[in-house]
Amino acid sequence: MSARPLTLVLVSTPVGQLGSGRGGGVELTLASLVKGLVQRGHRLHLVAPEGSCSPVQDARVTLHTVPGVDQPSWQHAERNASMRIPCNAVLPRLWDRALELVGDGDALVNFGYDWLPLWLTPHVEPRIFHLVSMGSVSAVMDSAVADLARWDQRRLAFHTHRQADDFDLVEPPEVVGNGFDLSRYDLQLSTDGPLGWAGRVAPEKGLEDAASVAAGLGETLRVWGFVEDDAYARRVESAVPAGTIEWCGFKPTSELQRELGRCRALLNTPKWNEAYGNVVVEALACGVPVIAYDRGGPGEIIQSGETGWLVPPDDRDALAEATLSVSSIDRHACRHWVERCASQEGLAARVEAWIRKGLKPADGTIT
Ligand code: UDP
Repeated sequence: MSARPLTLVLVSTPVGQLGSGRGGGVELTLASLVKGLVQRGHRLHLVAPEGSCSPVQDARVTLHTVPGVDQPSWQHAERNASMRIPCNAVLPRLWDRALELVGDGDALVNFGYDWLPLWLTPHVEPRIFHLVSMGSVSAVMDSAVADLARWDQRRLAFHTHRQADDFDLVEPPEVVGNGFDLSRYDLQLSTDGPLGWAGRVAPEKGLEDAASVAAGLGETLRVWGFVEDDAYARRVESAVPAGTIEWCGFKPTSELQRELGRCRALLNTPKWNEAYGNVVVEALACGVPVIAYDRGGPGEIIQSGETGWLVPPDDRDALAEATLSVSSIDRHACRHWVERCASQEGLAARVEAWIRKGLKPADGTIT
């Protein structure tokens, strides 16, 4: 690498400790990026809520943790809800520490989906970049993203075009996709396994549709993930014949990929504009075709007919029919797509390029 290595302060989500599963896909994104950026020679400070584990043990990565109360997650707030910062909140403390640490470092990179760091960005000298992790779920957040885009859109990146389309931007979006450590996922070629579903168990993930398809086919649906909403999980379970859902719990990546890889297909049924859909790509990395609603990130990631099938959103009959055609998908093609489009190395290179571009003076002059 010819360019000088960067010193970056990465700020984790204020929802849950790294390693807990409560932060959803952000946790894995951050872990991949930390590893990928270290491989490229950069020095990193990772600021995260107390109890977090560093995704990598390396002299170039320092973990800093701060205590405090979790931020309520935006995806479960009313669209017109106000910004709330709880008493003893972890969010402002993360930013206090991050701003102290940046010193003569190059930039801060925000992984949380929050108003405070977006608002802060034009008011402080250190450069703050934001990898936006969700689509539009709140009016307050929509205007914070739009305001920052008007000030300097180079500070914003998104996971997919479909996610970015939710926001009022002034230029074409910087889309960095996502990245996975492929050495952690084994390709499995057996095609007679069960149906699977993975993700946070919460209403926006639409588990009820996958369960109903499995019930209609008289099959069991294996479900992996953190149960965020117990009452919802019970409602979904009681709407299908007993035994339809096999709860497998929240597993570390090594186990998740081993079990997921045995599936014949993954069903993915988002009810919201999913920003990306890590579990979709993790399944593909194991050679598992994905049958999904053509909505949000999964609709952009899945190559219908090659790596799975896309069906009209909320159409359970189409989902069931596509599930019957899964044997026509070549499991090698699923893995190849991830190698080409969603590697850890590729993500780190795209994120580095985005940050370097944003570090240049906006008018193109050389300082
Ligand atoms: N996950 C996991 N173990 C499980 C089930 C899920 O580690 O048993 C992780 C998975 O690797 C993924 C995240 O949970 O990174 C879910 O992310 P996704 O992007 O699919 O959805 P989000 O929760 O961010 O909306």
